[in-house]
Amino acid sequence: ATPMAILVGSGRGARMGILIRGPEALEHARELHQIVLDKTGTLTSGEFEIHQASVVGTVSPIDHIDAVEAIRLAASVEAHSEHPIARALVAHAQQRGYTLSEASNFRSIPGEGVIATANGHTVRVGRVRSEAGLAELAELEAQGLTSIAVEVDGTERAVLSFGDRIRPVTKRTINALRELGIEPVLVSGDSAAAVGAVATELGIPQAHAEVRPEGKLRIIQDLGPGTAMLGDGVNDAPALAASTLGIAMGGGTDAAMEAADITLVRDDLGAVVDAIRLSRAMRRTMI
Ligand code: ADP
Ligand code: MG
Repeated sequence: ATPMAILVGSGRGARMGILIRGPEALEHARELHQIVLDKTGTLTSGEFEIHQASVVGTVSPIDHIDAVEAIRLAASVEAHSEHPIARALVAHAQQRGYTLSEASNFRSIPGEGVIATANGHTVRVGRVRSEAGLAELAELEAQGLTSIAVEVDGTERAVLSFGDRIRPVTKRTINALRELGIEPVLVSGDSAAAVGAVATELGIPQAHAEVRPEGKLRIIQDLGPGTAMLGDGVNDAPALAASTLGIAMGGGTDAAMEAADITLVRDDLGAVVDAIRLSRAMRRTMI
């Protein structure tokens, strides 16, 4: 029997909290020498909280799009997205009792943001692009916050900043991976400042920021065989599919889980180390 058959047959995989998709998945665990790690929702909990809402430019008294209205419109659109930022915005709006508008023509661009029509406006929520927005951003990024713009009818009206937390198990997991000879590489769609703060905190010297989904895929291809990928988002799916061992967070998106070889059912990072240790141990006993 293959290690995988033993693993599944014994139910040990399930008890460890890992779900295995492909039969060969864990056979590759012994060849791994690198692991690409997504930041948001993977190394961090992805449970964002709004720290600040800044209005960009001046508030026009005619259309009354102040910070609250920007959040309300943004949440109306994000109600259709599974992104951690989207979940945080909707939760925030619900806690405040804001009534959300019906959104139509919803479109999501992985690693970029979302756009839809709400309350008669075209609302885009995502990367900050305008000069005024970017000026607002500089100071917020220095604090390591993740910031997004709310654009209404083509004009960025607000910049919203979110704080996220590194998961309690992350540091331990990275140390354990290193002991197994697997070097971490941080790759994120977020800004250089937000990524830098996490990389420094975790002691990861190789970190790439502002990487789009195709960029994540390219990094996996450049690193070559023996590279695992751990992620949670739609933006991680191409990289998860192309890596030697794709690992999805159980609390992440369906797209990530479908592209991955294994899923960490309980959203517990530590399980990745257990899975690699076990498969290596089984390999040894079988030879
Ligand atoms: P990561 O690689 O760290 O998981 P993502 O690629 O998911 O990050 O997101 C990168 C950036 O794209 C975010 O920081 C945000 O600016 C923007 N973004 C992506 N999806 C959304 C969304 N649903 N709402 C708002 N912003 C988004
Ligand atoms: Mg992510």
